Amino acid sequence: MADTIFSKIINREIDADIVYEDDQCLAFRDVNPQAPLHLLLIPKKPIEKLADAGADDQALLGHLMLKAGDIARAEGYGEAFRLVTNNGANVGQSVFHLHLHILAGRSFEWPPG
Ligand code: 5GP
Repeated sequence: MADTIFSKIINREIDADIVYEDDQCLAFRDVNPQAPLHLLLIPKKPIEKLADAGADDQALLGHLMLKAGDIARAEGYGEAFRLVTNNGANVGQSVFHLHLHILAGRSFEWPPG
C-alpha cells in the first residue's frame, strides 16, 4: 500500500491534533470538520479500506469499534455519535488508509447524502 497523509500522521512526519493513541490505533481531529466533533480513528496497520481487511484483522476491527465508543465518550458524546467509513472513491473515500469518522454534536440526516 502506498504512503498516505495518514501514515505521515502516524509517523509524526506531519502534525495532527491527536486525541488518542495506543499500539494499534490513532485518533485525531479532522482538518475539515463536518460537525462539532469530527475525529478520524485509524489503525496503525496500513489497510486501504474496510473491504481490504481480512480474517486476521478481526480483533483489530473490534478494537477500533470499541475505541470509537470510548473516544466519543471521552469527548463528551458517548450517547449520540455517528460512525462512518467510506469504502472506495465512488462513495467519497479520499484517503486510502482505513479510517472511521466519529461525528457528533449536531443532528444528522438519514439516509446519509
Ligand atoms: P474520506 O473522504 O477518505 O472518507 O475522509 C478523509 C478525511 O480526511 C476528510 O474528512 C479530510 O478532511 C481528512 N483529512 C485529509 N487530509 C487531512 C490531514 O492532513 N489532516 C487531518 N487531520 N485530516 C485530513
